[in-house]
Amino acid sequence: MAGWLDTKLRGVLGGRTAGALERGLGLVTVGDLIRHYPRRYAERGELTAIAGLQDGDHVTIVADIASVTSRRMRAKKGSVLEVLVTDGTDSLTITFFNQPWRERELRVGERGLFAGTISSYRDKRQLAHPQYLLLNEHGGEEQVERFAGAVIPVYRSSKSITSWQIQSSVDLVLDTLAADAIGDPIPADVRAELDLVDVVTALEGIHRPGSMLEMEQARHRLTFEEALVLQTTLVERRGLASGYQSSVQPEEASSLREAFDSELPFALTEGQHEVGSEISRDLARDVPMQRLLQGDVGSGKTVVAVRAMLDVVAAGGQAVLLAPTEVLAAQHASGIRRLLGPLAAADTLLGGSAPDATSLVLLTGSAKSAQRREALDAIATGRAGLVVGTHALLEESVEFHRLGLVVIDEQHRFGVEQRAALAKRAPDGTHPHVLVMTATPIPRTVAMTVFGDLDISTLAQVPAGRAEVTTHVVDPTSQPRHVDRLWERAGEEIAAGHRVFVVCPRIDAKDKDKDSDDDETSADIATVEDVLVEARRRLPNARIEPLHGRMSAEEKDAVMAGLSNGTIDLAVSTTVIEVGVDIPDATMMVVFDADRFGISQLHQLRGRIGRGSLPGVCLLVSGAQAGSPTLERLDAVASTRDGFELAQRDLEIRREGDVLGGSQSGVRSSLRLLRVVEDADVIEQARAVAERIINDDPELAEHPQLRAAMTALDAEQAEFMEKA
Ligand code: ADP
Ligand code: MG
Repeated sequence: MAGWLDTKLRGVLGGRTAGALERGLGLVTVGDLIRHYPRRYAERGELTAIAGLQDGDHVTIVADIASVTSRRMRAKKGSVLEVLVTDGTDSLTITFFNQPWRERELRVGERGLFAGTISSYRDKRQLAHPQYLLLNEHGGEEQVERFAGAVIPVYRSSKSITSWQIQSSVDLVLDTLAADAIGDPIPADVRAELDLVDVVTALEGIHRPGSMLEMEQARHRLTFEEALVLQTTLVERRGLASGYQSSVQPEEASSLREAFDSELPFALTEGQHEVGSEISRDLARDVPMQRLLQGDVGSGKTVVAVRAMLDVVAAGGQAVLLAPTEVLAAQHASGIRRLLGPLAAADTLLGGSAPDATSLVLLTGSAKSAQRREALDAIATGRAGLVVGTHALLEESVEFHRLGLVVIDEQHRFGVEQRAALAKRAPDGTHPHVLVMTATPIPRTVAMTVFGDLDISTLAQVPAGRAEVTTHVVDPTSQPRHVDRLWERAGEEIAAGHRVFVVCPRIDAKDKDKDSDDDETSADIATVEDVLVEARRRLPNARIEPLHGRMSAEEKDAVMAGLSNGTIDLAVSTTVIEVGVDIPDATMMVVFDADRFGISQLHQLRGRIGRGSLPGVCLLVSGAQAGSPTLERLDAVASTRDGFELAQRDLEIRREGDVLGGSQSGVRSSLRLLRVVEDADVIEQARAVAERIINDDPELAEHPQLRAAMTALDAEQAEFMEKA
């Protein structure tokens, strides 16, 4: 069964076509081809309008041959064949050079499909050397019939293979498809209950529908199938996790945590208390916690995590905090040390006074070897109860004494695999508790798709008394005066003893935008290099330093420390400060070329100020045109500080792929039809079905077809991650 889907196209279609499918589209097996769904459907006539074609258009037209002339070229040796075709809307000349033999097959009165790129020659539109298919040729009758049938699939095609070549390959495969050659991953009772067509009907319906209605039914069913296979995988993964044994089970609030609470300079919010108890309940269980904590920028997730970490340490386990960047890891380490005071200093004289004290180590990729050896030793012997670090912690060489809890900050930078890599480090067959934190609010069904194996907690409020931050969009060309004012304001903030961040999209002119495909090394885009010079010129008395990813970890740490203790006033930075950086005295954020950033990125950047009780100002500098979508985006950011509202706006604007984020591309690559935002109801429905199936048949013994589809999905995602 699965065997047939794994059959190489080479054996079915012949070498040339199979080669073109592989080269052009990466389709190797029968399964690949039948899952290469049409990108859209053309209704009769849609393909044919010659009128209105423009230079450079890639087109497929259906037209009748009106005349054929062959002549010798005047200037060069050789001949040119000119074929005038018409489709009732207009006519077009098709030309072939030095292929006189084509005259034999291109006859007046014939109808054909012609595909190519429109160009113009002496002000006349033409199609030079198109690929073509005459409709009376072998199989052509069927094409005509299909054409008359009004729904024509249009496939994503490539230079080496046209949409209709794909179509006839699919035809060939579907014609030889025996009804029982392909298993249906959706169980029959589910199909009956939800009124879904079977897999063979669906494949017919999506590739060669008799009507748009048939196509819709097929598409709906195949979308549901994707959702079901994914959700069953997630529900099963979750079920497996619930069969694991947690490595530590802290009973309740430890004295270590109580000591910590009593030293906190603020009262916890209601939300922090609530989420704290949810986590405590999870930690006490034999089953490892699998929880996602989402909370807006500044909602105080770190404190929640630290309290859980302390409970685990008090119960004899180790707790790890994994951060996406070195800056953030270093900041977490020093922030947690500060919060804990003597409680984190078991290995110093200071710690002698605190009976439960533990110690904290920081491990990042840039640690010097002696430092690194020392940290690894502290981790392996268990001397370090708290471990903070970056990806470096995922390396095999890091051995834990008794790993009890893994906290992952800003999850969107880490993938599922990394979670799994750490989970393996717990002692003998047990698993650590896992807490994933994200500042990007995620709509329910996206969370279900991407984090479908996690329970979800939400910190809805931001601590009371949080200062106002006002945001303005500044246009440097129409309001040059405002740019002067901006630097004056920065000077005022610094004079008042506050810190200022100035963010640029690039480090220097050679530096390309990571996130954009264009490789312009444009002089127009603000760089840290240039703005640093400008800032020092404008504010000669201020202490100003750069901060970006090309500096060493020590240099970055020094700047962060300087900003923290007030020996540096202003940092000209890239988005290295985007995530999590916490400097309560920072009151001003200037973002140059703000239109180079997305909504959530700007929201994150702005989240760096107004974190203490001091009010802040955020200036988004951009020359974006009035009324442009870009300006609309900036205005949206200026209009609210509510991250959930902005996330919703962002979703409406962003493309699907971006919603899932870079590290989720393994999931994304396997979704052909399912759209995590639009298909919310399909996902909900599939989740319910998946839970029922796993509940009734945990091993999926009765559902071999579904199991096969899940295995294929796993393999596909693994392959994708390997390539990436
Ligand atoms: P985020 O959720 O963005 O990671 P942090 O955990 O960094 O936020 O917290 C933001 C700031 O708010 C920190 O300076 C933290 O010490 C402070 N904070 C956390 N909880 C409270 C609270 N309940 N009251 C006042 N300030 C708090
Ligand atoms: Mg944070």
